[in-house]
Amino acid sequence: MKIVQNSNQNTIYITHLYPQHMSLYGDRGNITVLAYKAKLAGIEVVVQNCSIGEKIDPKAQIILLGGGQDNDQEIIKSDLLKRKNELSDLIGNGSTFLGICGGFQLLGKSYQTADGKEIEGLNFLNMQTINAKPHEKRIIGNAIAESPLFGKLIGYENHGGRTFLPPELKPLGKIVQGGGNNGQDKTEGILTELDKGLILGTYFHGFLAKNPQVANYLLKRFFPSLKMPALSLLESMNQINNLQLNY
Ligand code: GLN
Repeated sequence: MKIVQNSNQNTIYITHLYPQHMSLYGDRGNITVLAYKAKLAGIEVVVQNCSIGEKIDPKAQIILLGGGQDNDQEIIKSDLLKRKNELSDLIGNGSTFLGICGGFQLLGKSYQTADGKEIEGLNFLNMQTINAKPHEKRIIGNAIAESPLFGKLIGYENHGGRTFLPPELKPLGKIVQGGGNNGQDKTEGILTELDKGLILGTYFHGFLAKNPQVANYLLKRFFPSLKMPALSLLESMNQINNLQLNY
């Protein structure tokens, strides 16, 4: 993995794309975790809420597109597509894109909703998502995956979409329990570099809160010499009150 040097600054810039529409099952909490850890490590945090029609902060280093209902994915789709070049430039220059569930699906070519509508995706990844067939159920429940880079990953999934990766795309991990990308091939998520940047997609909600090693990794890409506090979020809840977290 490349380390993105950004040593002249002591601030992390995080953008949440469409917080009103794409933050299902508390996906906003991924930003809370990053902000919390960064603050503990003495880094300033700037969080941008970027809604439809608003300009993305050109300094954005971590961009979150969380999960969304089919209806919300449809609402944001045309605005998202207009941002394709801007987002690929940001990622190409070293930013990280974190896509959770519906946000992960829209990184691919297309997502087919439960009523069969085709939503065009950003096409950053050569993958497609189709919905459950009439006899298939939504994939719902607590899930576990094993990742070569991060070890055991846990999360909560609730999706109708089935995402299929082509062989050249490596998943984030292998499903141990739950459905993962499609309920069939045991793949979960995606982790891939795009030029200098990183794309991480997952179906796991509660992702960075339940997997703090991944949050550490994402921050360390920008601050390589950072000593991350070893504490997990829950162990250090008593410290959170001393931090000004208004995200
Ligand atoms: N609407 C999408 C699906 O059902 C994504 C759901 C989600 O983000 N949890 O597959």
